[in-house]
Amino acid sequence: MRIKNHTHWRTDDIRRAILPAIRRRLVEVPTLARPETYRRLEVTIVYGNKGPTGVGGFAYYHRPDMTLTVGKAGPIDAVDLASVAGHEADHNRGLKHGDMPNGGMHQRLESWSRHAVGMTIRRAGPPQQDRATRAADRRDRRRRTAELKVVEWTRKTRLARTKLTKWQRALRRLEGGTR
Ligand SMILES: [Zn+2]
Repeated sequence: MRIKNHTHWRTDDIRRAILPAIRRRLVEVPTLARPETYRRLEVTIVYGNKGPTGVGGFAYYHRPDMTLTVGKAGPIDAVDLASVAGHEADHNRGLKHGDMPNGGMHQRLESWSRHAVGMTIRRAGPPQQDRATRAADRRDRRRRTAELKVVEWTRKTRLARTKLTKWQRALRRLEGGTR
């Protein structure tokens, strides 16, 4: 199973929640799926339109491809996520809603989602910068410092010229006075 995660929710947490559910629905139940369906399964995680905490999904029949949608604000309920993932896995193995118990309407807590009780889906930390980005940031900081120093020393140079002129005039006046 491969997870293509386009959200800020941690991929390892998502995997822990959905993998057992998908395995149970695709492998451990008498299945219509070809064996490679599970191995090649690609799960895409995107933000959905079911509110800040809502979980949704869609899947292809007889094809190892499902998409799970999650809220952006969260928190994301790991049990919901596992429950939906198991449902989509049923579609992957060819089941339509009419083939499922209760017409595909599930309880939140199903036999394939109980493992997720107490699990948390955490936010991913800020993305790690690569070497090139860090080097570019360092150059930017040095450039900003250099710009400030040029401004500062231009001002001080002007001030020094003004002071020099003032004291030169004072000296000329005093020397003139003694002449
Ligand atoms: Zn469905």
